Amino acid sequence: MTLSMQRELFTPEAPPAEQTAGLFADVVFDRPLDHAFTYAVGGELRARIAVGKRVRAPFGRGDKATVGYCVRLSETPPERAVKELVGVLDDEPLLTDNLLRLTRWMADYYLCGWGQVLNAVVPAGARDRAGTRTLTFIESVPEVGLKDLETGERPVPPKQTPETGERPVPPKQTPVPAKQAAVLELLRKAGKPIEQRQLLRQAKCGPGPVEALLRRGLARRVARRVDRFVDSTQEEPAPAGPIALNEDQLVVWDQLGPALKQGGFQAFLLHGVTGSGKTEIYLRAIEEVIAQGKEALVMVPEISLTPQTIQRFRGRCGEVAVLHSHLGNAERGGHWRRVAAGQAQVIVGARSAIFAPAKRLGLIVIDEEHESTFKQESTPRYHGRDVAVMRARLENIPVLLGSATPSLESWHNAQRGQYTLLSLPQRVLDRPMPEVGLIDLRHQPLKRGRPLAISDALEHAMRSTLKDGGQVMLLLNRRGFSTHVHCPSCGHVESCRFCDLGLTYHKERDIMLCHYCGYEQEPQRNCPLCGQAAVRYQGLGTEKLQVEIEERFPRCVVRRMDSDTMRKPGSHARVLAAFRKGLIHILLGTQMIAKGLDFPNVTLVGVVNADVGLHIPDFRSAERTFQLLSQVAGRAGRGPQGGRVLVQTFTPEHPCIALAATHDYAGFVAAEMAHRRQHNYPPYQRLARIIVRSRDQQAASAFADKLADAFQRTLETMAEHSPPGVRVLGPAEAPVFRLKGYYRFHFQLQSPSAGTLHQILRAGLSVHRTPAGVEFALDVDPFDML
Ligand code: ADP
Ligand code: ZN
Repeated sequence: MTLSMQRELFTPEAPPAEQTAGLFADVVFDRPLDHAFTYAVGGELRARIAVGKRVRAPFGRGDKATVGYCVRLSETPPERAVKELVGVLDDEPLLTDNLLRLTRWMADYYLCGWGQVLNAVVPAGARDRAGTRTLTFIESVPEVGLKDLETGERPVPPKQTPETGERPVPPKQTPVPAKQAAVLELLRKAGKPIEQRQLLRQAKCGPGPVEALLRRGLARRVARRVDRFVDSTQEEPAPAGPIALNEDQLVVWDQLGPALKQGGFQAFLLHGVTGSGKTEIYLRAIEEVIAQGKEALVMVPEISLTPQTIQRFRGRCGEVAVLHSHLGNAERGGHWRRVAAGQAQVIVGARSAIFAPAKRLGLIVIDEEHESTFKQESTPRYHGRDVAVMRARLENIPVLLGSATPSLESWHNAQRGQYTLLSLPQRVLDRPMPEVGLIDLRHQPLKRGRPLAISDALEHAMRSTLKDGGQVMLLLNRRGFSTHVHCPSCGHVESCRFCDLGLTYHKERDIMLCHYCGYEQEPQRNCPLCGQAAVRYQGLGTEKLQVEIEERFPRCVVRRMDSDTMRKPGSHARVLAAFRKGLIHILLGTQMIAKGLDFPNVTLVGVVNADVGLHIPDFRSAERTFQLLSQVAGRAGRGPQGGRVLVQTFTPEHPCIALAATHDYAGFVAAEMAHRRQHNYPPYQRLARIIVRSRDQQAASAFADKLADAFQRTLETMAEHSPPGVRVLGPAEAPVFRLKGYYRFHFQLQSPSAGTLHQILRAGLSVHRTPAGVEFALDVDPFDML
């Protein structure tokens, strides 16, 4: 496989071809292929083809008509004879020039097919025009005025009504009846076509008068494709005007404001503690670009796309389009089309919103830029933040990344001067950061041989908070009832049939569940291995926590928020609304409750087990734990009553826990950066991870060896000229060795520069042939290390 795609793909669109000249389209398909295929464009397709539209073309075995994207048009005939396009699917291009450039870059950077990228970035609802349909509209014929009617002068009829092809009957000399005149006046006043049935309703008449106007040539029919989607995100906008910026915010604005006024690419990293007024800065920045007649794109983690967030933007920023994967196809397509038509000033959405077809972007904002949900874990395995920075570069506009706990990658970029660092070190209105107390679980008294989910100290704090009318949030980042099901007599652990992972018992559904592949089985009382009726259900998940809390706080309303309880659309919003109204006393849940929520009455946040994510074999586990603790701590004390946080842990001395407790981001970064440097991890080195999998363990192992070998050889050849400083680590069994029935091996490439890394990846990949039954995935800048 060679990834040297043609570079001249971005020559400006060819002028409309003369009938005599040939027209050729370069087409890419949804395949891991590195090059485009050229087709001749014939006949009536010449008028319809455009770069960025989908086409149907003979492709692959048997020349099957296959859908692809047209990425280039040219009049220069290719050297070899080419096949002809079969059809053009879209009326309008689905991608702007800049989006074509961006996706091209992604294919290069993430080493996948351009067609795969295109297919992934245009939402299905936009492609199939879900939620639209063609309706008949009526409009008045412009050159005929009411005056003419009144004077009884004969209007000049149009030669033919354009859409229907009906030949109008020449109008009669008789004056227009009142009913018809009324309808016509309605149409004139509207100044735009009115849908047929709506017109009848408005005019309070039957079809007769309208038909008569059509016959007279005073009105005509037009067919229009309209959106029929229901915008479920439409809520009352939060009534809010701009707030006077505080001193810190003014310092930030002094740097950001001029860059927005000037335009041009510049990347900012806004490091602001939780509640420091970052969002207020985003809103200002957005208002500034809207005032310039431009659009702003705001990326937030999926989980923070709450009605609350959307309302905040709606209240201040005019027309807001919302794009994320939980919207139905029709609705998503509808928002997408509004953006394409320039009808939205602000686009708010999750990862995929970065591909919104906005044509006049003036700013991109990425909130919570450190969130791992910006990384897509299927092809194309892109990182939304990095793609956002690249899009800002292509659009030549500023990009603003914000976080209370910036990723080490972004922090490093700020240190190197790639990003301009802006900081908001204090909460607004002199509100203090919440006090964080650590509860050492090693010294907790046991009850029936086991620690209780909630220590006495946390229980007391909860009671006094509730007594004072405050609300409590409890974080436990593990769902289910029992997370560890085993037999104490023989040591058997109930694990997935297809994965190397323990099963979790879910009590409400009364099943054992694999959280990776969804495999389910019946819970057992007898050990399937030794037959003893002694299977133990241990380990604490959110479901069990809820039961325990409800027992201990029988008069409180307790609600749980995790992916089990939040299955139904809208349930997230409903629980949050009830919590805001004070109808819920204790809200417990997984990381879902940690992110970006602003509840002033939450005066106590409890972390039930801070160590849950800490011992995962992933070099980012400490960073993630620090971020999660900081985020959840940030939920406390957002109102004038202040607040505090209690963190239960078995490892209170671990830097990511100790430093999160003192809100010491700088301290954490210093310690963690030293660790990363020592082990050649990002951000000091670039990483690519290759995962080889097969149902046949031997085949997977052999191919992983072969691939790693190919890279090793490439390295050695390159090293003859100059040592590239690249290392191949592995291959080895992946930490989760068996997943969904596949055996998995992985290895990593570490390189000081992205350029060298890509050179080696391309060279190494060009020599292999993947054997049947084996697959491999290449992950550039990987997040998932399991
Ligand atoms: P962050 O995004 O950093 O968590 P927000 O922008 O949400 O912080 O601000 C937290 C709260 O403080 C919000 O309710 C916001 O309206 C308010 N706020 C922001 N800036 C100011 C300010 N300069 N003066 C008073 N209140 C402010
Ligand atoms: Zn499984």
